[in-house]
Amino acid sequence: MRRTTTSEGGTVTEQFSVDGQTAVVTGGTKGIGRAIAKRFVAEGADVAICARTDEEVNDAAEALNDGPGGSAVGRTCDVRDRAAVEALVDAAGETFGSVDCLVNNAGASFMAGFEDISENGWQSIVDVNLTGTYNCTQAAHEHLADGGGTVINFASVAGRQGAPYMSHYGAAKAAIINLTSTLGYEWAGDGVRVNCIAPGYVATPGVASQMGVEPGEIDRANIDRNVGLSEELADVAQFLASDASTFLVGETVTARGVPDIEETPDV
Ligand code: NAP
Repeated sequence: MRRTTTSEGGTVTEQFSVDGQTAVVTGGTKGIGRAIAKRFVAEGADVAICARTDEEVNDAAEALNDGPGGSAVGRTCDVRDRAAVEALVDAAGETFGSVDCLVNNAGASFMAGFEDISENGWQSIVDVNLTGTYNCTQAAHEHLADGGGTVINFASVAGRQGAPYMSHYGAAKAAIINLTSTLGYEWAGDGVRVNCIAPGYVATPGVASQMGVEPGEIDRANIDRNVGLSEELADVAQFLASDASTFLVGETVTARGVPDIEETPDV
């Protein structure tokens, strides 16, 4: 097996490396996006992150530049704003010379019964999750097609099987899964591989506080695998960005721990 030394002194097989890549990670200030940006930088990639909150973007970029590996830049950008997204992608391309990987991580949701979701609430969730993915992916096409690249979308198990009280979010995430396979096909000729990750519960700060579990309390040796860690999603993202996944195109990888396949009573 081919092995190489990482910037942290460990070893990985070479085909899992993202060293030397340039990635744009939307929503890279918190949770899963932050873990992905941290991993990519530690592994030698240059990363541009974005989110809507100025101070958090600056702090996160500074923290990313605080260790060995690649470098990071941060930019305030709402993925719903097409002009801001184009500026983000172009700035990443100019700063680092290319955009090899786009991680469409930014997403949001709130809980409400379907009949209580206002037009504005529906539109806002579809806009952040689905239209944000459309904006960033279309804006990055030229960069990604120049030399080949990868797109990593974020869906959810909610987009696979439905999600009570999150119908807007589930519908938007289902659309992202569908978009992933279509675009995987359409962009294959450009050398751009489009794939997607559908997480179950992940102990990001928002979800952890809702569920009453902190990431630090999760012990993989003892706990039922029902709640994931952001770093475990960074593992999947690194795989999809690397040459280790060259035969995966248009796929959605579900990462939810123990599958929910309990026997149902005979009917
Ligand atoms: P999170 O902790 O809520 O972080 C979301 C990130 O996206 C933040 O950096 C946030 O920063 C940014 N963001 C939100 N709206 C944005 C917008 N309009 N434009 C630009 N940036 C925006 O989220 P997470 O739990 O890590 O989830 C990451 C992805 O995984 C999402 O797509 C989510 O739907 C999906 N997912 C998560 C779970 C889970 O259990 N955590 C499960 C299934 C799927 P600002 O608010 O400052 O903009």
